[in-house]
Amino acid sequence: MINKVSIIGFGLIGSSLARAIKNNQLAQTIACGDDSPEVCKKVLDLKLADTATTDLAAAVTGADLVILAVPVGACGKVAKQIAGSLSDGAIVTDVGSVKQTVINAVTPHLPPHVSFVPAHPIAGTEHSGPEAGFAELFNGRWCILTPLAHTPPHAIEKVSALWQACGAQIDIMDPKHHDLVLAITSHLPHLIAYSIVDTAATLEEDTKAEVIKYSASGFRDFTRIAASDPVMWRDIFLNNKEAVLSILQRFTEDLTALQKAIRIGDGGHLQEVFTRTRAIRRAIIDAKQATPTAKGQ
Ligand code: NAP
Repeated sequence: MINKVSIIGFGLIGSSLARAIKNNQLAQTIACGDDSPEVCKKVLDLKLADTATTDLAAAVTGADLVILAVPVGACGKVAKQIAGSLSDGAIVTDVGSVKQTVINAVTPHLPPHVSFVPAHPIAGTEHSGPEAGFAELFNGRWCILTPLAHTPPHAIEKVSALWQACGAQIDIMDPKHHDLVLAITSHLPHLIAYSIVDTAATLEEDTKAEVIKYSASGFRDFTRIAASDPVMWRDIFLNNKEAVLSILQRFTEDLTALQKAIRIGDGGHLQEVFTRTRAIRRAIIDAKQATPTAKGQ
């Protein structure tokens, strides 16, 4: 049992974790630290934490586990703010969607008496804020840990045990590899969705109205992804630049090949690609990762 867990950033992920921790009685005290007074008030109104404050240093005082659940671009700044108040032997972890830049930004601020276990739960929805969270978000999902060479095994075990108790399965990965894998599985699809929906947004009014009316034919699924939090996604692209640009280059070449196949009437190429992609979908269903995590989807 954790004595005190402090969650910094009480949005979708932070509040879902708090709910799962509370439901499973994994900590005696849950403390919320968030730079928004409105979020702190909402957290107390919803009884998601025992205390809530905008003073992040106060929020982590006495905590044995501190979870950074802020946008990846804010992790370094938060680490700097809380560094002087971290207890001897405290474990710091995060939930950021990019790992290498978060490690680079956080580690210089952490004192030697704390351990850092970078983590990323592969679960989420397009919604944000403390009201959007739910305890079952991590059920059956993967949580990837990217520990550093000097991260003590007991700290990795403690963070793994927390995620497992919240319903997740654990995988350990090198941070750079994590960032490459996520660039293709998450970051590129979001970029494509943002781009397609923005193309529709800039069409003439009458065409735009028809796009919305007939959205069930495919467009609708892109709009769900493209409704994801703008700040969170801005930070992801700025912090995973190298991997995203490399995957984007590959994608552009494959797209150009499809464009050419359509132009020259190469049905064989189109059918070959579309058959391969169907097999990927079947593999995702077999791996039990096909059902959406979001409520009401
Ligand atoms: P969110 O719902 O927008 O919540 C983030 C919270 O952090 C907000 O309450 C925000 O307050 C607060 N915050 C922002 N900057 C802060 C700072 N400097 N100090 C203190 N609090 C701060 O975001 P989320 O979806 O939970 O994402 C949080 C993290 O989880 C991100 O690193 C993201 O990459 C990762 N993640 C997200 C998903 C997903 O699908 N959403 C999945 C896996 C991992 P304000 O609203 O006032 O800015």
